[in-house]
Amino acid sequence: MKKMIIFATGNQNKVREIRDIIGDPSIEVLTMKEAGVPADPAEDGSTFEENALIKARAVAELLRDKIAAGTLPIDVTDTEITVLSDDSGLEIDALGGEPGIYSARYLGHDTDYGYKMNAILQRLEGVPDEKRTARFVAAVAAVRPDGTELVTRGTMEGRIGHAISGSNGFGYDPFFFLPEYGMTSAEITAEQKNAISHRGKALRAMLELLDENKD
Ligand code: IMP
Repeated sequence: MKKMIIFATGNQNKVREIRDIIGDPSIEVLTMKEAGVPADPAEDGSTFEENALIKARAVAELLRDKIAAGTLPIDVTDTEITVLSDDSGLEIDALGGEPGIYSARYLGHDTDYGYKMNAILQRLEGVPDEKRTARFVAAVAAVRPDGTELVTRGTMEGRIGHAISGSNGFGYDPFFFLPEYGMTSAEITAEQKNAISHRGKALRAMLELLDENKD
């Protein structure tokens, strides 16, 4: 039996990250577009977990429909498929947890992250280091063809720095300061970030759960 993961995202960064974390080339990891099941449901849940589940369910439903109709563009005979999705964001304590589940939409979905980070730095002007605590949060949801649903969560603690620095990573990484490294999460390497990141932790916890729930 072949194993396949369909990740409910169009973001190649996330797919690369999950391939690295799984570290098993025999497990095929496809984006929902590559698998021919590009769902785009409204992420109207009130938690990271709910939003992750909404996405995974939508892709799993489309997958079931296309398999039943014989219109799936990829061969899934003798294949165990798991649909995975994640929802993540940045919680800043001094802003009451903002931007939280609205991180991607904060100040507009297509707004440049330099602009978003500078706006946040301005809101935090005068806030001392010990009150600039923040965390990245990720929820990972899995939906299996038999209807099994699983959810895990991971966090990466740090604080909002005073400047934007570094060009690795993406999104809000350049102003997310990791005291134990003395650098932002855009300055550490991808390997270092995978080892400590919210998504890395949630994904590893999910892979363990899936392993335990194997039939
Ligand atoms: P999602 O893709 O809908 O989960 O939205 C995630 C949002 O949180 C985006 O705004 C990302 O930029 C931000 N985010 C999540 N994880 C990270 C990370 O590891 N680094 C930087 N920004 C992140």
